[in-house]
Amino acid sequence: MSHVSFREKGQDFEASFDFVVVGSGAGGAAAAATLARAGRSVALVEAGAWRDPDDYPHSAYGGLRDLTDAWGSQVTMGRALWPVVQARTVGGTTVINSAICVRTPSDIFRQWEAEHGISDLEAAVLKKQDQLERDLSVEEVQPNALGRANLLAIKGEAALGWADPHPMLRYTRGCDGGGMCLQGCSTRKKQSTNIVFVPEVLRLGGTLVTCAPVDRVLFEGTKAVGVTGRFLHPERRSKGATFTLRATKAVVIAASVTHSPVILMRSGLKLPALGKYFRAHPGTGVFGVYDEPVDMNIGATQGWASTAFRQTPGLKLETLAIPPELVASRLSGGGVQLMERLAQYRHITMWCHAVRAETAGRVTRSLFGNPVVHYTLDRPDMERFRAGMVLLARQHFAAGARAVIPGIAGMPYELSPDQVGLLDDAPLDPQKYIAILSHLFGGCVMGKDAQTSVTDGNGRVHGVQHLVIADASVIPTNLGVNPQHTIMGLAQVFAERLV
Ligand SMILES: Cc1cc2nc3c(=O)[nH]c(=O)nc-3n(C[C@H](O)[C@H](O)[C@H](O)COP(=O)(O)OP(=O)(O)OC[C@H]3O[C@@H](n4cnc5c(N)ncnc54)[C@H](O)[C@@H]3O)c2cc1C
Ligand code: SF4
Repeated sequence: MSHVSFREKGQDFEASFDFVVVGSGAGGAAAAATLARAGRSVALVEAGAWRDPDDYPHSAYGGLRDLTDAWGSQVTMGRALWPVVQARTVGGTTVINSAICVRTPSDIFRQWEAEHGISDLEAAVLKKQDQLERDLSVEEVQPNALGRANLLAIKGEAALGWADPHPMLRYTRGCDGGGMCLQGCSTRKKQSTNIVFVPEVLRLGGTLVTCAPVDRVLFEGTKAVGVTGRFLHPERRSKGATFTLRATKAVVIAASVTHSPVILMRSGLKLPALGKYFRAHPGTGVFGVYDEPVDMNIGATQGWASTAFRQTPGLKLETLAIPPELVASRLSGGGVQLMERLAQYRHITMWCHAVRAETAGRVTRSLFGNPVVHYTLDRPDMERFRAGMVLLARQHFAAGARAVIPGIAGMPYELSPDQVGLLDDAPLDPQKYIAILSHLFGGCVMGKDAQTSVTDGNGRVHGVQHLVIADASVIPTNLGVNPQHTIMGLAQVFAERLV
């Protein structure tokens, strides 16, 4: 077992392995575990630092500083600057996500086959998802972890008669509703990849290289033979020694939707589809204001969800407990008015949507070599976005809310039940909404045609050898459900096919 971390200039690190896997999030760690289980020597290279759960931050600001990519500053370049949230730490975005586990819907495999010529994945991915559910102790949210916010959502759903067979499964072991998923689960109940797969890779003899942002892939002719970069100090943010990790069998890139395409660009690959077909599930929240205290931060961060609207209008609904500093940023006003609004804190709860947006954007490389995300929701997607807000508002009222706070510029701060119809005519301009992108897809999409895809259906990059992509960037469509299970399933299938 070995862990190589930041090294000062002059202490260059070089080593050789069967496989070098770049990125320790959902895709990378899952792929590395498959390779290590097959007895192969593996280096797992991670740009971020190892964080012990005891040292996870306890505030939203600390989470941005210690756990997120670019201090949370990545935003879409387009009509609105919406944050693109991803993590940069061992475990990747699984450390800061809500651990919701949803199997890949079968219509997605049919869509991949019809539109992208990718067959032969469904049975293999579903088999991996069976095992992943055991490895990551997937469980239903238990009654003691629900909290009042999730119970109210269930009440609203029942009152509206939404039929949703979707059980709320999460990668947790005994979650008791501490409500800190987004800042990292310091009680280790969330089974993020830093808790499960990374330690397993180390136990099986793998090497973890941290604080090590890969600059580029090394090639001999058209064969990938390793990666190189320079260590980066996690606090000083200064550069250290260089590292060169050779791979005798293959390099696996799983550095996320924004970073994987840019690593390939920095490596000199010129594929026509590289960086294209970026997609996301942009989402926003609607606050409900209740007479009784709700205390949304008691209970699972996201303990209720509905896929009833996945096909029409095309979105997913979820509860989402956010920390007080983020709530405060949504309550407008000043002086006495702001203090009165803040005093409502215990009576407010947020439910959100994730829109199954069709809009395609693009990832490019800045002058400094960093990812830039170009993305503006088109009108049909903005209509879905607005329809989701209407559903959330109606659900709050069905659950007994006395008002909702929609957070739309130019609209009243609060809407009472008889004003909910105003939302039907809410603006379709992205600038009027506070939204984020947390489920990302594309940039290195898989497909049959090298003009419109970057990899084949096994994640192998077209036109070169020994180079595989194994993260959300290969996914050529949106999913309409939370993506971690699909990403891990694909990554493990690709890894298994490599060995
Ligand atoms: C707030 C939030 C909540 C979410 N909740 C859920 C949920 O409940 N359920 C669900 O299914 N999905 C959820 N998601 C989405 C899910 O977490 C991601 O889709 C998934 O983790 C993406 O996997 P990935 O392997 O593509 O990338 P990541 O998990 O982001 O991993 C990429 C890794 O690569 C590293 N890296 C980047 N560049 C380099 C480089 N140059 N060199 C070395 N390493 C590099 C990064 O530091 C990171 O560790 C959520 C996302 C967010 C932001
Ligand atoms: S809700 Fe709390 S206990 Fe449960 S997984 Fe999230 S952070 Fe951990």
